Amino acid sequence: TARFYYGMVRQAERRLVELATKDSLTGLSNRGHMLSLAEHEMARARRSGEPLALVIADIDHFKQINDCRGHEAGDNVLAHTGKLLASLCRDHDVVARWGGEEFLILLPATSLAAANEIAERLRTEVAASPIVQGNTCVSCSLSLGVTSLIANETFSHAVARADRALYRSKAEGRNRVTAL
Ligand code: GH3
Ligand code: MG
Ligand code: MG
Repeated sequence: TARFYYGMVRQAERRLVELATKDSLTGLSNRGHMLSLAEHEMARARRSGEPLALVIADIDHFKQINDCRGHEAGDNVLAHTGKLLASLCRDHDVVARWGGEEFLILLPATSLAAANEIAERLRTEVAASPIVQGNTCVSCSLSLGVTSLIANETFSHAVARADRALYRSKAEGRNRVTAL
């Protein structure tokens, strides 16, 4: 009996940890979990001297998808895109839902040039993977911003630079990657 209850408690614990760290729609890390993992990865990068890259991705014209197809279809596109991004990254990369239709990806031991290539691959894969909704297909594209952590800067400072790169991708026509 003791073992039975111990098992139940462990299972409830795992469920609580999942609720606290994961975004329920996409199954990705949530913003808070990304922030704590980022601190850990930054400390490790400083110790090892390895680079640490950051990719921010925002779905293009997502409001139109909601407006034309409904909020539920929008949710499905978000879940599909989030899972696709996670499947294209390595196990030790951190893929998080950063905001509404924005994803943040942390790439340990990755140079700016390599992160730029990865972001380009994410862009082409998402653009080439429409999702089937009943008898129609919904496709979307991503605009991405890429940057690499500079020694001693804060995480939010690096995220702000990735955001500026993303903004440039939007301004230059969307469905593209900008590195800063
Ligand atoms: P842009 O190309 O400039 O990024 O245009 P956009 O339409 O993607 O950007 P905007 O910020 O205008 O709209 C984002 C929309 O995302 C608005 C908001 O209602 C929607 N959204 C945010 N979170 C969710 C969600 O969880 N589910 C759904 N279905 N929609 C969401
Ligand atoms: Mg958007
Ligand atoms: Mg957005």
